[in-house]
Amino acid sequence: MSLSEEQNVSTVRRPHIEPGRLFIDGEWREADAKGRRDVIDPSTGKVLTTVAEADDSDLDAAVAAARKAFDESGWAQLPGRERARILNRAGDIIRRRADELVATESANVGKPVSLCRAVDVATAAEEYEYCAALAQTVEGSTRQIPIPSHAYTRREPLGVVGAITPFNFPLILSSSKIAPALAAGNTVVHKPAEETPLSALLMAEILTEAGVPNGVLNVVTGSGSVVGEALLRHPGIDKVAFTGSTKIGRHAAAIAGEALKPVTMELGGNAAHIVFEDADLEKAIGAAIKGFVFNTGQFCMGGPRLLVHSSLYDAVVGALSGAVPGVPVGDPFDPATVVGPMAGERHLAKVEEYVRIAKEDGGRIVAGGERLDLGGGYYFQPTVIADLGNDSRAVQEEIFGPVLTVQSFDTEDEAVAMANSTPYGLASGLQTKDVARAHRVAARLQAGIVWVNDWAMLDPAIPFGGVKQSGFGREYGPEALEAYTKVKSVVISLA
Ligand code: NAP
Repeated sequence: MSLSEEQNVSTVRRPHIEPGRLFIDGEWREADAKGRRDVIDPSTGKVLTTVAEADDSDLDAAVAAARKAFDESGWAQLPGRERARILNRAGDIIRRRADELVATESANVGKPVSLCRAVDVATAAEEYEYCAALAQTVEGSTRQIPIPSHAYTRREPLGVVGAITPFNFPLILSSSKIAPALAAGNTVVHKPAEETPLSALLMAEILTEAGVPNGVLNVVTGSGSVVGEALLRHPGIDKVAFTGSTKIGRHAAAIAGEALKPVTMELGGNAAHIVFEDADLEKAIGAAIKGFVFNTGQFCMGGPRLLVHSSLYDAVVGALSGAVPGVPVGDPFDPATVVGPMAGERHLAKVEEYVRIAKEDGGRIVAGGERLDLGGGYYFQPTVIADLGNDSRAVQEEIFGPVLTVQSFDTEDEAVAMANSTPYGLASGLQTKDVARAHRVAARLQAGIVWVNDWAMLDPAIPFGGVKQSGFGREYGPEALEAYTKVKSVVISLA
């Protein structure tokens, strides 16, 4: 994925979006209590549409439908090759309906259309196609044991998967759960984020068109504190796949732990991006800017902490203060926009608060630092803050906005120690021309993924996930399939 990728987005128009309903057992329904919730367009702050606001009884119905589909629809027993055909069709339909998906996701999240097409929609299609291939690899193996027997393992689906996703990459993060879960023969109940639920509803339509049987995918829109909580506690859910903040993830893992349910936890991040003294400076500055403005900084794997060798510190701060004000911020539907609005008022307020803390802690604002008034919407200037101490909360905590802190170091050991000094461990990266250093430092960084000489190189073939407070379990890659299957051993006596 690349911010500079040429993409034709000239055909994407701001959409009119019909009110959304729940998708349960292959049918569109209103919530039992007839509740509805406004969905806001972050580029204007105005209501974009409404969706059904589910509660416990709707969740019960979705879990019952998913259970029935698991037990009776034949989905779990389909040969992997048949499930693969359906998942490949989903990939094709995502590509065919790309304009509609881009328009919906951009309007709901505030993503620039160019980014949304090149990254969100493309990655979702690729994930379904990658998982179609994985569906054909769900297999066991024979084992030799010293008694007369035929011993083998079977890899079986887990049952009903409860998927909970965050606001920032709705399409990608629902695909990273639903595609491997379906590939392995599970059924799914998906609760998208309450602010950004619209692409999940479109995906229910797309997967149905692709041939996914009724009840195999159910989408229940509603709040985390009601529907999310009910999903975590529901005895009919066999596995929880959660992406979100470390705070809510800890709560979710505790509930799942009490019920001994397997979980995948993709949680917060606060990556360090190290620029060594031998780095290609132009490339490093380009990667640093991409790392913190990508998705308006609402990127768990963004690079909000730039650690620069002291010999380059002034040059890098100077280059960033020159380049960052030129990054195009504005209407997500303008193809030239690189940074759109933040997804909601609460996210913008959080960023403002961290910039205030940074100033209080002695940080020097060298670019941005303010809310942007573009006639409505939740815009914040891409912001660079130099000279902060490593213990400032603006360094240690996840800001989750278009804010970069820049600090200096003198030695490789110091850089690694600073990089590893936060509670998080999702992504990390370094800029160097020294191959030995690249391998040496990559091995020492506490992170699920390390990038060298670029940022945000992600692909459905590459597993990602966290260590420390960034969670556990992996999405993407063949590893994802393991998270949605269980191994059964069968030993048949030949005596
Ligand atoms: P969040 O507040 O933790 O919400 C995540 C999801 O959990 C939402 O669907 C939310 O529903 C739901 N939820 C809230 N309270 C719940 C409860 N009591 N029980 C069950 N579910 C509940 O996170 P966010 O603000 O949407 O997303 C940003 C965070 O996600 C950041 O920390 C970011 O780093 C992390 N993230 C991690 C990854 C990764 O791969 N590791 C990827 C993307 C984002 P509502 O929306 O209705 O509140």
